[in-house]
Amino acid sequence: EIQVHDIRKTFDGTAAALDGISLTIRSGELLALLGPSGSGKTTLLRVIAGLEFPTGGSVLFDGDDASHRTVQERNVGFVFQHYALFRHMTVLDNVGFGLAARPRANRPAKAEIRRRAEELLALVQLQGLEHRSPAQLSGGQRQRVALARALAIEPTVLLLDEPFGALDAKVRKDLRRWLRQLHDRTGHTTVFVTHDQEEALELSDRVAIINQGRLEQIGTPSEAYLRPESAFVFDFLGSTN
Ligand code: ATP
Repeated sequence: EIQVHDIRKTFDGTAAALDGISLTIRSGELLALLGPSGSGKTTLLRVIAGLEFPTGGSVLFDGDDASHRTVQERNVGFVFQHYALFRHMTVLDNVGFGLAARPRANRPAKAEIRRRAEELLALVQLQGLEHRSPAQLSGGQRQRVALARALAIEPTVLLLDEPFGALDAKVRKDLRRWLRQLHDRTGHTTVFVTHDQEEALELSDRVAIINQGRLEQIGTPSEAYLRPESAFVFDFLGSTN
């Protein structure tokens, strides 16, 4: 379980990007962070990852204060919309990268890294493409490689920032369904950022609705839909209907 406690983040000369957010990410859940552009979703994800240090508040991993831990120490896996694959590496080497880059003491042997990478590529249904370069893949295939790469380190939590945002509607829909199935099979704790309410409501176990750096509501999709706790939530979820 990950506890986000009263997180604040102010960038120089701007209003607070995060204005005191507290929430708990339960083990094994798929939590969507949903909110309009500029509401602070990406900043919150980066704070959880350790890519960004908050101005105030703390992040606890299983009860321990992780606020000062690095990304590697937190062992998070992430996929960002524009977080590209390494172009000069094969698909297989991309997936194995996180393990190969570990300090010697906890780096698996080469053969083991290869075995794990092959296993993950099978999980994301890309068997047979191990030796291609990223340039020889479709956009959807690339995002699945990125997911396999994030999963390779057996992350404490998988952080996805609009991972399918750049893809066309059909591929996006397929990947959405596929991600849900993958989650059901592996049970990885996953936090998923989106501004698309349909995506959040269809995919997640719970949804956290963020607006102007604050948490408006957190609960199951149907709770958010049927019992909006603020005018903002009501309007935001209603806006496509
Ligand atoms: P989007 O859906 O458009 O990606 P978001 O909800 O992810 O938006 P953030 O990217 O977290 O929002 O941004 C929250 C606020 O913080 C915005 O007002 C943004 O301009 C500001 N911000 C984010 N990163 C920085 C930065 N590095 N320097 C200054 N301001 C920043």
